[in-house]
Amino acid sequence: MALYVQKYGGTSVGSIERIEAVADKVKSFHDAGHQLVVAVSAMSGETNRLIGLAKGISDSPTPREMDVLVSTGEQVTIALLAMALQKRGVNARSFTGWQVGIKTDSAYMKARIEDIDTQAMRKQLDAGGVVIVAGFQGIDDDNSITTLGRGGSDTTGVALAAALGADECQIYTDVDGVYTTDPRVVPAARRMDKVTFEEMLEMASLGSKILQIRSVEFAGKYKVPLRVLSSFKEGNGTLITMEEISSVENPVISGIAFNRDEAKLTLKGVPDVPGVASRILVPISDANIEVDMIVQNVSEDGTTDFTFTVNRSDYQKALKILGNLSQELNAREATGTDDICKVSMVGVGMRSHAGVASKMFKVLADENINILAITTSEIKISVVIAEKYLELAVRALHTAFGLDAEEQAE
Ligand code: ADP
Ligand code: ASP
Ligand code: MG
Repeated sequence: MALYVQKYGGTSVGSIERIEAVADKVKSFHDAGHQLVVAVSAMSGETNRLIGLAKGISDSPTPREMDVLVSTGEQVTIALLAMALQKRGVNARSFTGWQVGIKTDSAYMKARIEDIDTQAMRKQLDAGGVVIVAGFQGIDDDNSITTLGRGGSDTTGVALAAALGADECQIYTDVDGVYTTDPRVVPAARRMDKVTFEEMLEMASLGSKILQIRSVEFAGKYKVPLRVLSSFKEGNGTLITMEEISSVENPVISGIAFNRDEAKLTLKGVPDVPGVASRILVPISDANIEVDMIVQNVSEDGTTDFTFTVNRSDYQKALKILGNLSQELNAREATGTDDICKVSMVGVGMRSHAGVASKMFKVLADENINILAITTSEIKISVVIAEKYLELAVRALHTAFGLDAEEQAE
């Protein structure tokens, strides 16, 4: 008998039929003698619908009330799933975030889980029942409802598994595992049986939406065995493993991630003197804007161009700050664009193989794709390119690095 935490995403509970199918699945595990805690998302499209309602009232609703609003989606699904299980004769009980004691900090809309009280869940499990928990939500010290950021139900699932010491956390979604890249963009993408935790962390942080990054961080910190599977079809899915995969099994590149939520800003012709980078970036960080890549040109005539990228939602705010700085610093011009994206190649094999970057740049050059910025770390290379080339770039790289399904990975 095992204790499983299962998380079902929006598409998996997107209709009454889908909720009934999830109930069948949960019942089959329960019938096999396993203990089950099930975290669910809102029905697909519901969180966006709720955000749309708020935007109809105000351009800048307070984050606290946004969380009161968007957390309601998950409350609907826990009740419906509990009903579907009860109809099947299973003792199931729904819990909101606060009822199950998911304590978070007060950073509304991106709260972090601080503590989970397992007592209420244990009581239900000990009584032979199934626990159903609303994903994405928690409660802060002030008894205000908080939410964990988009895609946050993944993190609820993993955090519950960590708190309960579950045997496995199973993330059920609409694809049957983690692929070499998003199979919606590259139909030839290949499902991986295993992916290292380190690579999954990079893929998630570089924009791969399959798992929320915090869920992967949590799994790493608390050593939670994590698996991604389909709720639509049978299969073993993908195991996120803490072990190194042997170099024979391990291709140089494991996956390609991309992120459209990017914008690029440049301050042109800034005097190239000590302290200028901090004079530009301090006001940006004071405005709570996270900077991702930074590129500074070599100085010719004593001035330089200073370029950085931010999340697309912060673009206008950052451009305004840069406009003011341009005058203060006597720069030539503040410019920017949000028609860009970031494409990243990830693989622990990069540590022991040279030439990945040059090959990547050659593949992009052959497709006539201009690179606007580059960053690298030990196991990843990211480039910024025009958004219109995203699909072309990802497909070309996927093929060139031998990741396509029919081919043998190199
Ligand atoms: P859920 O609602 O179940 O949380 P999401 O839409 O958040 O589902 O995540 C699943 C989606 O992630 C897939 O439908 C797929 O398009 C996308 N995706 C992005 N990168 C990958 C990848 N490397 N492997 C598999 N799916 C990916
Ligand atoms: N419903 C939330 C969202 O759409 C949380 C989740 O689905 O994980 O972001
Ligand atoms: Mg998701």
